[in-house]
Amino acid sequence: MSDELGIRRGQALRAAVEQGLASEAEPVVGLLDVTGIEESATALHAAFTTPGMAITHTFAVKAASLVPVLALLGECGLGAEVASPGELALARAAGIPADRTVLDSPAKTVAELRTALGLGIAVNVDNPEELARIDALRSTVPGGGSPVGLRVNPQVGGGSIGAMSTATATSKFGVALRDPGAEEWVLRTYAERPWLNRLHTHTGSQGVPLELMAEGVRAAYDLAERINQAAGRQQVTVLDIGGGLPVNFDSDEITPAFADYAALLRTRVPGLFDGRYGLVTEFGRSLLAKNGSVLARVEYAKSAGGRPIAVTHAGAQVATRTVFVPDAWPIRVLALDGKGQEKSGPPVVQDVAGPCCFAGDLVAKGCRLPLLAAGDHVALLDTGAYYFSNHFAYNSLPRPAVHGYRVREDGGVSFSPVRAAQSEAEVVAESGGGLPPLRRAQ
Ligand SMILES: *Cc1c(COP(=O)(O)O)cnc(C)c1O
Repeated sequence: MSDELGIRRGQALRAAVEQGLASEAEPVVGLLDVTGIEESATALHAAFTTPGMAITHTFAVKAASLVPVLALLGECGLGAEVASPGELALARAAGIPADRTVLDSPAKTVAELRTALGLGIAVNVDNPEELARIDALRSTVPGGGSPVGLRVNPQVGGGSIGAMSTATATSKFGVALRDPGAEEWVLRTYAERPWLNRLHTHTGSQGVPLELMAEGVRAAYDLAERINQAAGRQQVTVLDIGGGLPVNFDSDEITPAFADYAALLRTRVPGLFDGRYGLVTEFGRSLLAKNGSVLARVEYAKSAGGRPIAVTHAGAQVATRTVFVPDAWPIRVLALDGKGQEKSGPPVVQDVAGPCCFAGDLVAKGCRLPLLAAGDHVALLDTGAYYFSNHFAYNSLPRPAVHGYRVREDGGVSFSPVRAAQSEAEVVAESGGGLPPLRRAQ
């Protein structure tokens, strides 16, 4: 499958250049492999599906906050994990039903909670203060509204990227389970609220080893068992195990696969799959990353201090984490010629720079690629997750267009719009363009 992914990507990059998607007016675009996304969803379903078990796979909207993508995933049977009013609005615009939507933000306002309960969207409560708000709101919502769970932090430790590790001792997320008195509080909390029927954990994202993720799920499962034992019934009926499957950014190989994680969970937490619990997952990066590329024109090729530098249109505005935290978020860069064909030629150590006006705006530093020249293109690989949804408006650079692609039977490539590029008028408008000027004191 991964070979085909690379072949389709090569065809799409060529076709995008040929068809003028990366133009002088729009020198950087995002591309998404629609077939690849479908295959990722299929692989996810196949990995977890278990006879007699109710499973809801939600997609973490922050990883690709694009309505047509959410709609495609919806058609593939997925739901949405949302963490803000904006993300909820996107999921609803994509037609994701309420019973496949989960709200997870750590800072939910009363209004957000009221909306979620009113819509019947599942809520994972982050902390005791939020739970008190739910207590108060439930009585005002006809039928009590939504499935509600508690997010717990199993404190199993972090992975290789601190900012992505949500299960450290002092993580800001959820109820810290190993803190003194925490488990007693959780047991009491469930005992007092028979309607509290879910339990949620999300151990982290990129950089967290599978074993540690499984340990986090194991801790949540064990807790659910203790809650249920104390209740003398199956009070917790659904376990939400979060997302976080890491992605391989070094090659086209899809590893670890959903099947690897599901197999590990089946050995580490067998009771999770015996049919007593429903399961919710919230994968983001692993569904989309390998299905996306950024295509950008090389505007100039220059040299400084003996180092060749390709100045392209893809920098911190699209590859924000890669530029600011390059050691944690390295990506592969392909050198393409003026026709979008992969360049040949001896590898030359060079920097690939973006358009932003700060010196660190490099998507690759000292990488070995065929020497890039003005009029060439670069492709930033495995950028389908988080790169199109976390635009950084440095230098008022516009959000680039995103196109979905399919390779047809005849080898041609069809593109469909996923998001239009932000226009200059939109940039001006969102920068206060329509508002009266601030006036100097008279
Ligand atoms: C970000 C996030 C996810 C998705 O993480 P990925 O690493 O993209 O799979 C899932 N659940 C929660 C609560 C998150 O914050």
